[in-house]
Amino acid sequence: MSSSAPAIAVLGSTNMDLVAYVPAAPRRGETVTGREFRTVPGGKGTNQAIAAARAGGSVTMIGAVGEDEFGPRLRAALAGSGVDTAGLRTVPGPSGTAHIVVDDEGGNAIVVVPGANGTVTGLAPGDEERIAAAGALLLQLELPMAGVVAGARAARSRGVPTVLTPAPARELPGELLSHVDLLVPNEHEAAALTGHRDARPAAEALLERVPEVVITLGEAGCLYAARGARPLTVPARRVRAVDTTAAGDTFVGALAVARGEGRAMPEALAWAAAAAALSVQRPGASSSMPRREEIDAVFV
Ligand code: ADP
Repeated sequence: MSSSAPAIAVLGSTNMDLVAYVPAAPRRGETVTGREFRTVPGGKGTNQAIAAARAGGSVTMIGAVGEDEFGPRLRAALAGSGVDTAGLRTVPGPSGTAHIVVDDEGGNAIVVVPGANGTVTGLAPGDEERIAAAGALLLQLELPMAGVVAGARAARSRGVPTVLTPAPARELPGELLSHVDLLVPNEHEAAALTGHRDARPAAEALLERVPEVVITLGEAGCLYAARGARPLTVPARRVRAVDTTAAGDTFVGALAVARGEGRAMPEALAWAAAAAALSVQRPGASSSMPRREEIDAVFV
């Protein structure tokens, strides 16, 4: 990556997704025979890190994997996309796993076991310097809240802007919100946080707590709102979606790169939407994330 690539730090989860494809999901007490099984590196932190690196960022990942056989594979998946893993520690016990059953109608049921992610309750030596060296810190909520808050606090004290994806939806402590510059919920998370099902009133309510908000709306695009400015709607691209897993993580990773390059918000959002639209046209999560040349090729 060239030295002018925007530097981005991600503090977040790393999971191995264990995916079983079945005609119909088993009910309690039932055993069904699956058709296919795949192991896919995932976790919202890792997905955002890979998305940002593929989109052209110089990305460092902060988090933890376990001492099991998944740890080296997860580290290699990040490194293979160009992510620096010096801040990804290896801790005793299992890596984080997501046990996913996908049925023939595309519905899924998921159990996440945090494993090593659950040990990230604060920053390790070197993490604060990694954050300080970045132009932005990306955060999600798949680590213990104490770890997320510690990262946000360090970013604030070093003058590094933070982007929080509030997923999975849970209550946000006041201190965390006081350190967040840009909040990027999807429409369900925005509703859970505010009680408003419509994006506009939800964004208005969120602006009382953070200065900038992007609410992603799936195939309807996104709504951007900032204090003191008129809200802006950016449409999604019209494409045939085959797998929308990690669309939001692709969007956030690409958005961070575009902002790091100094692009204005409307253009950055459109570029991120182009990246996300490419990812939904291909199966898989991190494996479906587009490279910079692919995004530029469709971005006109
Ligand atoms: P999440 O994956 O977090 O639920 P969304 O579903 O809101 O997030 O998607 C994030 C972004 O990805 C959207 O704002 C849009 O730009 C893009 N996107 C999602 N689904 C589609 C789709 N079916 N077609 C085109 N773009 C999509």
